[in-house]
Amino acid sequence: VRQPRLSGGPADPVSLGSEDNPFYHFSQKTKILEDSAFNCRAILVNERFWNKIRSSILDLLKDAGPLVMYELGLEYGFDMGYQGKSRARPKGNVLDLFTYYVMVSGWGRFEVSELKLKDGAPARKATVRVYNSFFANAAKSETGNPSCFFLSGLLAGLAEGAFSTGYNCLETKCVTAGDDYCEFVLTRRPGD
Ligand SMILES: [Zn+2]
Repeated sequence: VRQPRLSGGPADPVSLGSEDNPFYHFSQKTKILEDSAFNCRAILVNERFWNKIRSSILDLLKDAGPLVMYELGLEYGFDMGYQGKSRARPKGNVLDLFTYYVMVSGWGRFEVSELKLKDGAPARKATVRVYNSFFANAAKSETGNPSCFFLSGLLAGLAEGAFSTGYNCLETKCVTAGDDYCEFVLTRRPGD
């Protein structure tokens, strides 16, 4: 069984073949897809599945939809950040683990700026750009505003889980609103 490299990250992820995914492993014995980064079972989800869930939640919950999507992301992101923190070492490489993990998971290419640990403490502010985001493949934004609510919450939760500090996340550019990429600004919550 191929062992994922959780620290440092592979030198050139782009050169990986499609069957060389270091995190997902289909067991011939159990016939189950396993996620070795987070030690759990996995499924593959395509954009039809995701877009149906997203549009159903937004349609059913009306004005509360965006908040519910954000909260869903927040809960999952926190769990992911917390788990990832304990698996990635040395500590600073948790960002490498996440950006690589989400890329091979098909989420898109995440570029994180400024979120470097300074004397062991996380930065007050960070910008995350997401190119070719899976989550922005849904229908066009109806309001003209950024609408990746799930991913906004997820990034806030991930930062909180990984750095034990509360963050707010605001999406400032969005593919669904006509931008070339989605951009999220993370800011530390006052008092945290
Ligand atoms: Zn977006």
